[in-house]
Amino acid sequence: MTVTEKVAYLKGLVEGMDFDKDDKETKVLNAVLDVLEDLALTVSDLDDEMELVTEQLDAVDEDLADLEEVFYDEAEDCCCDDDDMYEVVCPNCGETVYFDEEIILDGEAECPSCGELLEFDCDCEDCDGECEDEKE
Ligand SMILES: [Zn+2]
Repeated sequence: MTVTEKVAYLKGLVEGMDFDKDDKETKVLNAVLDVLEDLALTVSDLDDEMELVTEQLDAVDEDLADLEEVFYDEAEDCCCDDDDMYEVVCPNCGETVYFDEEIILDGEAECPSCGELLEFDCDCEDCDGECEDEKE
């Protein structure tokens, strides 16, 4: 039973009691019931509005998630900033070589000095700023 239904039931109950309408106590009781009815309607309206707002918020949340997906995919972003070069010391020839973020994110590239295949471990999920240390 909703609040409005409960108040309507209460009003019906009081009306059924056949109280003397001119009696002071009956007037007070009816006034209280009127206030209750107003409150119940207000609460009911707020409920409806809240439901609507929640629906809209969910829709906005979903849209934002979609946008974030597109944005982060295009930016290929992790904690590493765009256009930064990363310094890597080749374990094969010991040469210090530089790669841009895109290559690092690919996970592997050939050493420009000796041709050895280098593998990178740049986990975008829990980078924790480790890449910061490797910035040029
Ligand atoms: Zn090398």
